[in-house]
Amino acid sequence: MTSREVLRKVFGYESFRGEQQEIVDHVVAGGDALVLMPTGGGKSLCYQIPALVRDGVGVVVSPLIALMQDQVDALQNLGVRAGFLNSTQFPDERSMVEAQFLHGEIDLLYLAPERLRTEQTARLLDRGKISLFAIDEAHCVSQWGHDFRPEYLALSQLHERWPDVPRIALTATATKATHAEIAQRLGLTDARHFVSDFDRPNIQYRIVPKNDPRKQLLDFLRTEHADDSGIVYCLSRNSVEKYAQFLSDNGFTALPYHAGLDAGTRARNQSRFLREDGLVMVATIAFGMGIDKPDVRFVAHVDLPKSVEGYYQETGRAGRDGLPSTAWLAYGLQDVVQQRKMIDDSEGDQAHRRKLMHHLDAMLALCETVECRRVRLLDYFGQSASPCGNCDTCLAPPETWDATVPAQKVLSTVVRLRKERRQKFGAGQTIDILLGRRTAKVLQHDHDTLSVFGIGTELDEAGWRGVVRQLLANNLIAVEGEYSTLVLTPDSEEVLFKARKVSMRRDPERVRPAKAAKAK
Ligand code: ADP
Ligand code: ZN
Repeated sequence: MTSREVLRKVFGYESFRGEQQEIVDHVVAGGDALVLMPTGGGKSLCYQIPALVRDGVGVVVSPLIALMQDQVDALQNLGVRAGFLNSTQFPDERSMVEAQFLHGEIDLLYLAPERLRTEQTARLLDRGKISLFAIDEAHCVSQWGHDFRPEYLALSQLHERWPDVPRIALTATATKATHAEIAQRLGLTDARHFVSDFDRPNIQYRIVPKNDPRKQLLDFLRTEHADDSGIVYCLSRNSVEKYAQFLSDNGFTALPYHAGLDAGTRARNQSRFLREDGLVMVATIAFGMGIDKPDVRFVAHVDLPKSVEGYYQETGRAGRDGLPSTAWLAYGLQDVVQQRKMIDDSEGDQAHRRKLMHHLDAMLALCETVECRRVRLLDYFGQSASPCGNCDTCLAPPETWDATVPAQKVLSTVVRLRKERRQKFGAGQTIDILLGRRTAKVLQHDHDTLSVFGIGTELDEAGWRGVVRQLLANNLIAVEGEYSTLVLTPDSEEVLFKARKVSMRRDPERVRPAKAAKAK
């Protein structure tokens, strides 16, 4: 069959989408390919169709062990002969699939990357006929990326051992740096690169300052997505449980998903999410890779993602059907403090920490931008765009204001507190001092006698939290140690002593419709 016939007869689709046709033709002809295509773009057909058209078995390397069974079932339902080998199988199942491979009785074989490292698997592959290697989630090979898996490094050997077999590497997430690293690490020197448009115009991006996240989430869901399917991402297992309970208590059908749940519960919750309408999955980032549900109407983050790549991939799970969808993120001072601290505490060398910092900084820049979110997002992936009209900053352009004086007040307070060597104070104490609050902790340390006590009455608490958050986001201040003590950075000195101007994004007023009406 030709590739077009396979597309129609096997998969039941009328026409190729985007660059699928070119990619398929290139791989069918035996060329190597590196495919960057957003989630939902249709990457699977790019290797499945060549595997069916070419002689031999297509070997698909995928880290998604939990999904292999589903993927193979789905193919078998279409009448495609497929199998998988991974650590979840019994030995007899494994030998059956191995026999099918050797006799050419399957067209697609899914393999976990750690399998490929074993000499036993390599010898098995030597004895069969391979039509192509597909390397799915190829960004996992990048140490610079956000989802590095050491097993992927061994994939560089595919070409040395089987030089005549074409390879196609695919990913939905790659900045310029990751893109180059994938090509280099996989030795894809002669590969053609297919880079799709990463824009997802039907997704509306919104990032709001976090002040009362539960209430904010509830308002968002009730007013815009009351009966819709969607995902709420949380940073920790504990908050997943709490948010799932909270949404259930408030009339939503919400289920938790995180790596601490047993495999049975996870599988059950996942399959309910795929099959039922109007279900909210509250999850850590353990959930979502490889999930193909077309009508996810929203992706909400109640904690700050660690990188733009992660954010893009997670939000990309919304609106695969092309219909309007929302990516909503609530983000606040505490997120910055917590994540900076997590990086400080993280294992690994200095270079590793620097990488994590760089990822976080890029994410913070996206949060604090006054420009179109989509422009910033696409720019991160090396693509240019013009203001989209479908993100919060386009719909309600945020103002900027000269925050130089408030910034100097925060920094001076930090300087005063630093003089008390043994004491460690974080953002909360700093703000209490600026506001002139005589709290127990302020009195205990005689902080009401500091010259900066009470000099910050021009802003309220939320205002000061916004200022500290933006100082942190812009590296004009840093946090350090167990108590997340605020400390100066080299750049702070310029603000304090050289009158460097600080411009900030004005946080939107909290919406209080009733009061606002009365005030008139
Ligand atoms: P990705 O792996 O890039 O996230 P998939 O390969 O899972 O995307 O495809 C996303 C969805 O689009 C799937 O439901 C798939 O069946 C569908 N799809 C892919 N290619 C086509 C096509 N040419 N015509 C219609 N639907 C397609
Ligand atoms: Zn925009």
